[in-house]
Amino acid sequence: MNASTESQQHLLTELQTRGLRLTHPDQRHVSRRGGAGPSDHQAVTINGTTLMVPIYSESAWESPFAVASLEQGEQIIRQQDGQQITLADVTFASSPGIYSGVTADGIPYSQIATLHSRDVLATTVLQTCIRYESRRKACKFCSIGQSLQAGRTIAHKTPQQLAEVAKAAVELDGVKHMVMTTGTPATADRGASVLCDSARAIKAAVDLPIQGQCEPPDDPAWYQRMKDAGIDSLGMHLEVVTPELRQRIMPGKAEINLTQYMQAFKDAVAVFGRGQVSTYILAGLGDSANAILDISYRLIEIGVYPFVVPFVPIRGTPMEDHTPPSAEFMESILKPLGQRLYQSNLLAADIKAGCGRCGACSTLSGYEQALLQPATVAAQPLLFSGTCS
Ligand code: SF4
Repeated sequence: MNASTESQQHLLTELQTRGLRLTHPDQRHVSRRGGAGPSDHQAVTINGTTLMVPIYSESAWESPFAVASLEQGEQIIRQQDGQQITLADVTFASSPGIYSGVTADGIPYSQIATLHSRDVLATTVLQTCIRYESRRKACKFCSIGQSLQAGRTIAHKTPQQLAEVAKAAVELDGVKHMVMTTGTPATADRGASVLCDSARAIKAAVDLPIQGQCEPPDDPAWYQRMKDAGIDSLGMHLEVVTPELRQRIMPGKAEINLTQYMQAFKDAVAVFGRGQVSTYILAGLGDSANAILDISYRLIEIGVYPFVVPFVPIRGTPMEDHTPPSAEFMESILKPLGQRLYQSNLLAADIKAGCGRCGACSTLSGYEQALLQPATVAAQPLLFSGTCS
């Protein structure tokens, strides 16, 4: 990685961990607050890279980075030694065309799905979760119920509503892929069934690659059912990788242990293919860099893309005061991980749909891309020739 790519990567990682302060009410662009996913974040584009940056979180108010509206347009600035340093141009995502639409049954499109990053449509099919309903079992970082309580979304998006919004998002906003996550229902399929119904309806309406996200279903037959329904790639999210921490931070979800997850990953890769199964790992919740790297390397061996993102707390959750990880901590994971992904030829760019392909919640894919640039390529990537068993 050359020096300028490295310093750009560092700036992006710092922004993602520390956040960005808006200094003027007019700078408040499109936001999506509450819910699952990057809730207190905003999509920003810096030097051609779009990423999700915390703007509405508590920690963003303390950030040394701010947006200044200057003569040359909106700029990221930092105060240093009493001086204002201008760091980069920044542009914000404009309001998506779908946000003014309403479904045939009268629900605003914005309550059915939201636009993430530049070209991703994202929805939470079931906005309720058996884990979240019990204070004892809820994941302490999760805010899935907040946007429901605030009336910004509905509890269950029907297949017809999702199909209608997905079609409109392709036509009006040029979305390229879709993320469908779900709260976990009290059934053994753990959400796979509702994802199948939704995917079938969407694929009948529009040709759009879809990533499904759910906990590992009890019966591995669901992987084939999801694929047959039109789901192109699958996310099953570990979030935390150290068993004791999993018990403490997400006691309900930790009922499915790491051994069960590893088996589920193997079963899913056998159906979806190498590189089309991924997991989200939230760095900064207490796992050591070594623990995250160790499991990530094991995941890569079985063909699973470990999407490691910095944990930034969401307001209103039990972890809202948790300190986000430092950029240095993130770099100590993302740099070697990006290198290993590149060497294993397991690349974000090859994922058909979903968070790994979007990449806006982490700077991980930037480390892969830096190695793909001809000037920095020292050797051909080691082509992975194993199977996923
Ligand atoms: S990485 Fe996933 S959660 Fe983050 S912006 Fe992209 S689609 Fe949304």
